[in-house]
Amino acid sequence: MMKTSHPKTEQTLVIIKPDGIQRTLVGEIIGRYERLGLKLVGLKMLLPSAVQIEEHYLLDPNWKRLVGEKAIESYLKKGEKPPSADPIVVGGQVIMRLKKYFTSGPVVASVWQGAHAVEIVRKITGGTEPRSSDVGTIRGDFVLDSYSMADTDDRAIRNLIHASGSVAEAEAEIKHWFSKDELVKYRLVQEQILYDVNLDGLLE
Ligand code: GDP
Ligand code: MG
Repeated sequence: MMKTSHPKTEQTLVIIKPDGIQRTLVGEIIGRYERLGLKLVGLKMLLPSAVQIEEHYLLDPNWKRLVGEKAIESYLKKGEKPPSADPIVVGGQVIMRLKKYFTSGPVVASVWQGAHAVEIVRKITGGTEPRSSDVGTIRGDFVLDSYSMADTDDRAIRNLIHASGSVAEAEAEIKHWFSKDELVKYRLVQEQILYDVNLDGLLE
């Protein structure tokens, strides 16, 4: 039988993008993930290089095409002509914009661990476009950018945060941003109330 790891060991990558730092939202954003019960296991501030960003988005070999397809669709929906009919070309333009965005200032990279970490973090972070992300999510509550404004100004959409989209993506991205010794293994006291099966040892 294949050994499956306990859900509480799932990890995900969160990067607070340069606009998140400039909006002085680092504490607020980290607090949102903390209060869910997730455990912070890695944290650092850095100035990413353009290469690091390009590699990050190309970890998934399909990403460029998929984002290109999505972007073309959104141009067509607006009744506008996409810059190219080739999703790879459009995806490449999105990466160019992302490189400019991510290298404009420092970012804060973090790794969070806990049950369904990837899915829970995406839920609380909100949809990619702040204009349409749900009220109560970080993007919905703290920023107002839109695809149409970003496209008009030929720039990446400013949505404060990157969060891994799947468990496989998280595994690859965590490796890309953190070395093994930058991730800390420790017990968080509140994990007992979140995960302990018998919940014993609480009463005096
Ligand atoms: P995320 O996982 O929610 O951040 O979204 P994606 O991984 O799909 O996209 C990453 C980044 O690419 C987004 O934060 C946007 O800056 C950009 N992007 C994604 N989809 C589109 C799109 O349809 N149009 C444009 N202009 N940019 C996009
Ligand atoms: Mg993504």
